[in-house]
Amino acid sequence: MTDTIFAKIVRREIPADIVYEDDDVLAFRDLNPQAPVHVLFIPKRPIATLDDASPGDAELLGKLLLAAAAYARAQGLAKDGYRTVVNTNTHGGQTVFHIHVHLLAGRQMHWPPG
Ligand code: AMP
Repeated sequence: MTDTIFAKIVRREIPADIVYEDDDVLAFRDLNPQAPVHVLFIPKRPIATLDDASPGDAELLGKLLLAAAAYARAQGLAKDGYRTVVNTNTHGGQTVFHIHVHLLAGRQMHWPPG
């Protein structure tokens, strides 16, 4: 896959407002937040899209969701709730091809999404 801006963030080549990190996962605030809390959870090992994920990525994908849930809980966001989103390819609205989970919180979310 081609290098992305998120891979550069993992390598600390460009700055980001990092809020969580472990061996496998990095989380940072979205540059263009769509809610009072908008954090992106990415694997350090890049996978371009959900469509590129394979069974061998199951544990890593699970870690992304669990890291988002733990962050939301620790920030006191879980009781009111939040939304987690993975956009895939063009119709999904994906713009950065390094898989990421959006965590959106701090306001009422609506359905269906736009
Ligand atoms: P998606 O459209 O699902 O691929 O989401 C990509 C997200 O990355 C968008 O919400 C952008 O605002 C965000 N984004 C792009 N560049 C950066 C950056 N350098 N730091 C933080 N967030 C970014």
